[in-house]
Formats: sequence, structure tokens, C-alpha cells
Amino acid sequence: MPELPEVETVRRSLEKQLKNRTILNVSVHYSNIIAEPSVEIFKTDIKNQMIHQMKRYGKWLIFELDQYFLLSHLRMEGKYFFRTKEDPISKHEHVIFYLDDGRELRYHDTRKFGRMYLLPKETAYQVPPLSQLGLEPWSELLTVSYLKEKYKHKTIPIKTSLLDQSIIVGIGNIYANEILFLSHISPLRKTNRVTKKELESIINYTRKVLKEAIDLGGSTIRSYHPSEGVDGMFQQRLFVHGKEGEPCPICEKPIRKKFINGRSSYYCTNCQK
Ligand SMILES: [Zn+2]
Repeated sequence: MPELPEVETVRRSLEKQLKNRTILNVSVHYSNIIAEPSVEIFKTDIKNQMIHQMKRYGKWLIFELDQYFLLSHLRMEGKYFFRTKEDPISKHEHVIFYLDDGRELRYHDTRKFGRMYLLPKETAYQVPPLSQLGLEPWSELLTVSYLKEKYKHKTIPIKTSLLDQSIIVGIGNIYANEILFLSHISPLRKTNRVTKKELESIINYTRKVLKEAIDLGGSTIRSYHPSEGVDGMFQQRLFVHGKEGEPCPICEKPIRKKFINGRSSYYCTNCQK
């Protein structure tokens, strides 16, 4: 599943290719991808809209058009490919945008979990899905007191709370494991028992880990090849995630793996309390 840094990589790559291009037309081959409005209205309203820029909010890609925001969530397997009309349409290409330079931007999704919304710009942030999202990691509103307030009645493990997109957007499973390791906090700790000092660590490492991942992702754009699609996946240097049984980078005790709320969690029982 692409995490925030991969989505940011996709955003940057798409922006280079799409800025000031106009969508002449669109065809929808699997209608469930279009969450809102109806497919008919989607197809009519998007016609002749220019793409001004690509934004991102959490893991939502946002195509800024003349009157609308086109929101796209890749979920598990969504990817964008650039093709021409000579290229045969694969059964996994569900939405095709016909651009004014003759190219086709094709949304490819083997699992079909991805979703798109076409919403008027003025209200897009006030209605779902964007209105349900928490703060971006780099928002100045993300402070210790914000987290303290959100976490004060939560007795679920801190690992689970970090994944709650209504509080902070964009922390996926891999990054939650890494952030807690760097902050020396057990993923099993009750959320309301995390101290202010530790919340400060969580905020700092959230920003550091995600920024490093984005910087690395940015470096993969240079080797990006259109035929391989734009999914932005890359491997970050990881301390604990996926390293069950390997020595902890700090104390060398073996890293433990445990499922917390169904998500694989990797941590050091010695360094994380
Ligand atoms: Zn350790």
C-alpha cells in the first residue's frame, strides 16, 4: 500500500507531466472507482477542465482543475500510467483521461479499491472525505497540546492511535513502527499514558521520518520510467519494520513482532517501554 511519501512522489511526478494540460474527455470502465458524483455527471463536469496543479492531503491526490478538485486515493494498488491511443487498454485500466496533447492518463488498479471524487473547489475541504481528515504532519497546528487533547481519553495502544487518520494524516504502518522505535515508546503503551515529552518526540520523529522518505522518494523520480507507471514505491532505510529476530540497532536484542489491532508491529522490548 502506498504511504504518504510514495503518494507525494506520485504527486510531484504527475505535476511535472500534467501542469496546464486540459482534460478533453474521460471514459470510465469500472464505475465504482467514481465515488462522487454519478459517473454521468463526473464525465460531463470534467470535460475541458485544465489541470492547474497537483496537491496532496494525507494520501489523497488532488488535481486542481478550473472549477473542481479531482480527488484520487490509490488505496492498495492504484497507479497512473501515460499512454497513447495506440496502446491497447488493459483490463486493469478503469478510468482514462484524454489530454489535449494527445496523451492518455490511465488509472490502473488491479484490486479496484481506489476511489475518485470530483467536488466543487469552494466546498471540497468541508465535505467528506477531506473534512474527516486530521492534521498534516507539517501543520503548525500539530502540537503537543493538540495531541494531548485528542489522546486524553484513549486507552487503545499508541501504535493504533498513530494510524488514526482523523488525528494526523499520512502515518502508515511502516512509519508508525519506525516513529515509535525512534521515540523509545512501546507500541503497546496506552495512548493516554504517553507523556508530553514523548508526544514531542512523536511529532519530531513523524516529521523527520516522513521527510526522509519523501526525499528518498524524490530521488526515484529521476529513474522513473513511464512504462512502469507512477506508483512511487521505494524502500527506505528502516530500523525495525520487517526485521523480526534481527538485532536492535541500539541494544542488539532481537526485534519482536506482534500484531496490534491486526497490523504487524515491530519493536524492541528493551529500548521501547
Ligand atoms: Zn533495543
